[in-house]
Amino acid sequence: MSRPVPELEVTALTRRFGGVTALDAVNLTFTTGEVTCLVGPNGSGKSTLVDCVTGVTRPTSGSVRLRGADLGRTSQRARVRAGLRRTFQAVHTFAGLTVLEHMLIAQQETDGVRWLAQVVRSPGLRRAEKTATEKAMPVLELVGLAGRAGDQASALSYGQQKLLGLAIALAGEPNVLCLDEPLAGVSPRLTDVLVGVLGEVRRRGVTLLVVEHDIDFVADISDQVVVLAEGQVVAAGPPSVLSDDVVFATLSGTTR
Ligand code: ADP
Ligand code: MG
Repeated sequence: MSRPVPELEVTALTRRFGGVTALDAVNLTFTTGEVTCLVGPNGSGKSTLVDCVTGVTRPTSGSVRLRGADLGRTSQRARVRAGLRRTFQAVHTFAGLTVLEHMLIAQQETDGVRWLAQVVRSPGLRRAEKTATEKAMPVLELVGLAGRAGDQASALSYGQQKLLGLAIALAGEPNVLCLDEPLAGVSPRLTDVLVGVLGEVRRRGVTLLVVEHDIDFVADISDQVVVLAEGQVVAAGPPSVLSDDVVFATLSGTTR
């Protein structure tokens, strides 16, 4: 019996920056609907892995496959259309735009409305805007920001901006969602909200690839934990790998 095609697979993935090998022949499989958490010390290559998967940077060698298709030189935009989305470690908001407008801008990437149409406020644009608003509001509801839809995004707290970043990614109804340090810098109260949202996203069957330092969260949400050190996979398996001595030493920065 043949094995099912994984949602996402990286093979011999290598990325060098000058003399630094950020990723060193990494092989990983991400199963449909599963949550994988990437952990490892600073500089171990976690963000570079997400960047290679999402097309922010190109691997030096090796491959990334989405449902069996080699992404090769596929652009970030084409990857988004193929159902691959991400959030960033830091949030970017645009001055003068509301929370809802941030959601609408993100959607026009995929709904085919051209910038020119926006200038002339065509009926086609208004229709698209209505549809996009109808799609955006339940997502804002999910992340607890529906009541802030008309507020300037820049007025949101850091944690709320991260929730908005997540909402923008979710509005595209991704198959695969990569989250780079979703909890970093977020207040305890909003951390609870975020954890709840990610649980719901997981229940909806989205394949998640999460870079996160919070080990309790990682142990709680992961189907697979991948431990990276100096661009190499130290361990990959169920959350129980976190109690392995070598993994413990890697994560606590000690050698023994
Ligand atoms: P992590 O996310 O695990 O902290 P990164 O993937 O950001 O680690 O970085 C891995 C290594 O690659 C580090 O040594 C980092 O300095 C280097 N690196 C990452 N991005 C670049 C870049 N754009 N230019 C040069 N070096 C980079
Ligand atoms: Mg990083």
